[in-house]
Amino acid sequence: MTAKDFFDSIEGYQTQYQKDVNEESYFGFPLQPILDAEARLKSKQTASVGYLSMEYGIAPSIYHPFKLTHPIDHHNKFFKHAVISNYPQIDDKHKIQIDKMLDIPIYGGGLGVLAGDIIKSCADEGLSVVGVGILWNKGYFRQKFWYKQGQIPKELSWEPKSYPGLIPMRKYIQFHTKEGLLFLRLWKYYLYSYDKRFACPIILLDSHLPQNLPHLQELTNQLYRSDHDWWRAFQRIILGVGGMKALKSCHYNIERYHLNEGHAAFALLDSYLQEPDRRKLSRKFAYTCHTPVAAGHDRFAVKEVAKIFDEQYLKAAKKLGKDQEYKGCLNLTYMCLKNCKHVNAVAKKHREIMQLQFPDFAEKVEAITNGVHIPTWLSGSFRDLFNRYSEVLGDWQKSPENLIKVTTLIQDADFREGIFNAHQINKNNLLNVLSPWPLNKDVLTIAWARRMTGYKRPELIFHNVEKLSRLAYNIGPLQIILAGKAHPNDNIGAAHIHEIFKHIEQLQKHNKLIKVLILENYDTYFGKLLTNSVDIWLNNPLPPFEASGTSGMKAVLNGVLQLTTYDGWIVEAVKADLKGKPGKAVDIGWVFGYQHKGRKIGSEQELRLDDDSDKLYTTLGEAAELYYLMNHKGQINFKSTWIDKMIHCVAQAAYFNTSRAVREYHENLWK
Ligand SMILES: *Cc1c(COP(=O)(O)O)cnc(C)c1O
Repeated sequence: MTAKDFFDSIEGYQTQYQKDVNEESYFGFPLQPILDAEARLKSKQTASVGYLSMEYGIAPSIYHPFKLTHPIDHHNKFFKHAVISNYPQIDDKHKIQIDKMLDIPIYGGGLGVLAGDIIKSCADEGLSVVGVGILWNKGYFRQKFWYKQGQIPKELSWEPKSYPGLIPMRKYIQFHTKEGLLFLRLWKYYLYSYDKRFACPIILLDSHLPQNLPHLQELTNQLYRSDHDWWRAFQRIILGVGGMKALKSCHYNIERYHLNEGHAAFALLDSYLQEPDRRKLSRKFAYTCHTPVAAGHDRFAVKEVAKIFDEQYLKAAKKLGKDQEYKGCLNLTYMCLKNCKHVNAVAKKHREIMQLQFPDFAEKVEAITNGVHIPTWLSGSFRDLFNRYSEVLGDWQKSPENLIKVTTLIQDADFREGIFNAHQINKNNLLNVLSPWPLNKDVLTIAWARRMTGYKRPELIFHNVEKLSRLAYNIGPLQIILAGKAHPNDNIGAAHIHEIFKHIEQLQKHNKLIKVLILENYDTYFGKLLTNSVDIWLNNPLPPFEASGTSGMKAVLNGVLQLTTYDGWIVEAVKADLKGKPGKAVDIGWVFGYQHKGRKIGSEQELRLDDDSDKLYTTLGEAAELYYLMNHKGQINFKSTWIDKMIHCVAQAAYFNTSRAVREYHENLWK
């Protein structure tokens, strides 16, 4: 592809984009890798992969920000975030304000962040992959805190036309639905390798076009809109069917399609209508299942889907994806399991659970454990530290598996001091962002931040506020920071936020010893800020419902210790014998609480809060004792086993990264 062809493909190139996209530069990045990527994807010589995902957490504010020649549109700026803490007089006067761009708001949580990390690592590994997703014109939602009320979901508005790195294509696609012809615009966003020599595009579909009926224009407004099955089904049809048509219209030579979660299942139908041989069809498809939780598996009444699909697609859907249990329903998980040759769980423990949930497909399920994209989630201070030790760690950017060698530095006094100091830089940075609140760098700081949903047990640490405060009186002060959104239709999730507010209020009387803050509107920016700066990352899902979890991987990369239940990726990360005891120190921190064993999965409603909160306090007590032996009011004992644990944490990043994961995708699913 020539540069001119590329410029010609952009809608409004002359009027809007010429200054930012030209021979010299693509929003401040080199143009050539894009031209190469387009040529490679079209070439019959390369077997390319199409990766379909409902959401992408790309996080340009923390990695590879594109540049604009004009000022950032105010809609695309990071907005102010409220804080609710046990210092209400400070909350009333202050908000968090960060002078940054809003991260492109087309993701909801971990699934999207993983998809973004996967495509970035494909670029790093030089794999010919194109992502397909949806341009969510109103994002997921913007979380507002109302004191005493909890979370109020608000519409988020941003401006795609002036978002750096995002370009609208002249090209539209269209397909027939029972509601008439649906037009979709294609947008592109490119993810570059860490060295900026290679790029992979993501195509984003958008129904916001005057050609469409007004209600159809709204289809690509809000990610995971779920107030009616019609919206849910239609959004998935856009991703699956629209996604396949988009790849075709770009003339890409795609040999493998990867369905990131069942949301993309309808892609199978498009392929099936051209290739009715089911064996041949299945060879082209791989499917990643991300959760054992029931709400994560899409089911639709056939009659609902029949309002959208024409006869041909409906027939295909019934053929490929009829639910085994519920008559008259389609089941997208089943559709994928049955029709994709390769199926993977996102951790080894999750494979075990999938095999129990779907015994008919037990043999087919492989485990490819999730990871995180190291250049995105690594803090600057740890990057500097690793570079200072490049004699030991080699080219760790190119070969993240080298990070395992940090364990050879465990006796190195300079390195021990270096890793602790690098951590304190990050902790100070957090305290700066939260500066109106009186936090202290020498106080044990714990964070819990992720989606607010039942099985993740957001308020476990507050289950018994008396016991928690006794712990602080007996052992030492605590700083606890929380953040997370509940899906707007998840009443239980919202109730958790409300409960947390109540506990924060109860803790006002102990605020000298326990400081608690919950930050509004958790996003990738806060994800990075928190995972790299606190002392302990708290992860307390109810086993076995956390398929993998990735925030802890971001934390270990930055030497942050884990206080965790035994589930998901953690099962692979801790090798110690865990029998019998309520809490157990392991290399990377501490494991506590209920453990899943046997062939029954159990109920995600039975949260075991009494037992597991007790065990959490016991284990946290142990951790706090060790912390204050290591850090006595700023006097640091660098020989402490706390620092051994920090080093062991970093070593885990050698494995729990997406470079390793996409190599496994390539070998086991795509080749
Ligand atoms: C990493 C990340 C997640 C995923 O966290 P889990 O621990 O896997 O639940 C969710 N949201 C954001 C913003 C993240 O950065």
